[in-house]
Amino acid sequence: MCGIVGYIGERQAAPILLEGLSKLEYRGYDSAGIAVFDDNKIEVAKAKGRLNVLAEKTNDGKTIHGTMGIGHTRWATHGEPSDENAHPHISMSGRFAVVHNGIIENYIALKKKLTDKGFEFISETDTEVIAHLFEYYYKGDIMDAMIRVINRVEGSYALGVLCSDYPDSFVAVRKSSPLIVGLGENENFVASDVTAILKHTRDIYYLEDNEMVVLKKDSVKVYNKDKEEVPKEKFTVDWDVSAAEKGGYEHFMMKEIEEQPKAIRDTISPRIKDGRIVLDDITLTTEDIKNINKIYIVACGSAYHVGVVGKYVIEKMCRIPVEVQVASEFRYCDPIIKKNDLVIVISQSGETADTLAALKEAKNHGARILSIVNVVGSAIANASDDVIYTWAGPEIAVATTKAYSTQLAVIYLIAAYMAEKLGMLTSGEYAKFISEIEALPDKVAEILKSKEELQFLASKFFNCRSIFFIGRNLDYAVSLEGSLKLKEISYIHSEAYAAGELKHGTISLIEDGTLVVALATGRELFDKTVSNVKEVKARGAVVMGVTTQAHENMEDVADYVVKIPEAHEMLLPSLTVIPLQLFGYYVASLKGCDIDKPRNLAKSVTVE
Ligand code: GLU
Repeated sequence: MCGIVGYIGERQAAPILLEGLSKLEYRGYDSAGIAVFDDNKIEVAKAKGRLNVLAEKTNDGKTIHGTMGIGHTRWATHGEPSDENAHPHISMSGRFAVVHNGIIENYIALKKKLTDKGFEFISETDTEVIAHLFEYYYKGDIMDAMIRVINRVEGSYALGVLCSDYPDSFVAVRKSSPLIVGLGENENFVASDVTAILKHTRDIYYLEDNEMVVLKKDSVKVYNKDKEEVPKEKFTVDWDVSAAEKGGYEHFMMKEIEEQPKAIRDTISPRIKDGRIVLDDITLTTEDIKNINKIYIVACGSAYHVGVVGKYVIEKMCRIPVEVQVASEFRYCDPIIKKNDLVIVISQSGETADTLAALKEAKNHGARILSIVNVVGSAIANASDDVIYTWAGPEIAVATTKAYSTQLAVIYLIAAYMAEKLGMLTSGEYAKFISEIEALPDKVAEILKSKEELQFLASKFFNCRSIFFIGRNLDYAVSLEGSLKLKEISYIHSEAYAAGELKHGTISLIEDGTLVVALATGRELFDKTVSNVKEVKARGAVVMGVTTQAHENMEDVADYVVKIPEAHEMLLPSLTVIPLQLFGYYVASLKGCDIDKPRNLAKSVTVE
């Protein structure tokens, strides 16, 4: 959550900060603020609402002068979105300005201590304690103060800190919240994410927990908590700047939906060589795979839905038991992990706080960790035994599409790779499965060609109050994602149900005109789902069926039918999800919703 940008150099900082923040707005957007150092004082501007309110207030940053500053877009955790609660927060004397991403868990005790010492608080945030703590501990050396602050606070933080005693440097640190350093020519940056600085530099440092950075315009030094300098390796990001631009699309979400064929291809192609799946990225040996006792898949949100697909696919293909768990539950459930259990964690950002904590929990129990992550060098990637990166490129829309699809592609690769090693596939089946995986990008592209069909269906249903998604097995797994996509961006209440389970209670909600989206792509269970369609139709539901071209009799039972191409049974989720993404998008668009930045949400949830 939340975006941080910091700049020091020769150019005016405020416009650069605002521009960088605009690239990070997907991370948090309920308020924004900047602090810029000029003439021995720190000037602050902040505003509740979207970044453009702040941009207007400061005439795109032109009214604030200075060549060093920090900026923040907020996703409130403590205190409502307001001007007072917006960051940066200033210490009582005005000497320190702080931007913070994360949560200070012991802020109540710290606030009490500081209040007793005479500090006055003006915001309801947890962050303000940091600004005052800096002042409390400051004895003339900002690094000493920073070490004392980070030793004192508990929780997660990425911090950017200006001090009016330091006209030519600022400091930053992170723990369990993302922050990278951008290295330029006579200018340097910090940011929550590379997209914010890609326009200026591609050279970056990743920071480990509690590494502290001192940025000057012509130097960057990283220190550990003992104030010893830490040598850092420079990484060069190869993302194209245009990857983080809308490129003529009205929304990032549609751009990212359209990018899926390429993203899936980029993810699978390097890993299929001479008709075989080659996972150079992982160290899991055939012996290790044979010894796997049980697999846990742990993730949040859409990544969790990928895990639900993964359970069906891996169990079917490898005959290894798989348990899928939501990370926020897994981390506190004292999981029973035995020797030779594998934990697969899935996260687009690689920073998802609950997933990271679940990973650590699993590690403490001795599990081996394989992660599926989109952001190179992220905390989850760094903490895993093995990482398979999805090559989806930056995903900006809060509602995921291409990250989901590429995660799914990786799950297929893992399942087939393990199944082959376990001798569960004949060479013919293996070759067929691989060629079917390779065919997925074109099939996704084919579905995207008829997006108008979904636009038409959305025009029929965008006024619905409640929509149900049903399906069995893999279709159920996809219905979870279809339902989430719709509700997160269109705010229509929606539920996904295993088709056979609906009648055990929830069917009471079906009334005349209720839309039920019935996914029935699998051959084996098609007739079973059709029976469930009949049941809801008998109670007044309007049914939109989603099925493959082979299933002609869907037309007989459903009011509307969306057809997807044929594919290997296990791979159908990659295709089924596409019309559902489009449906959610068009419904939200017809309702006039802010598709890329849905209310109350933020991308990469870096708080618990
Ligand atoms: N906990 C802080 C607040 O509520 C930071 C939130 C964020 O990461 O945006 O202000």
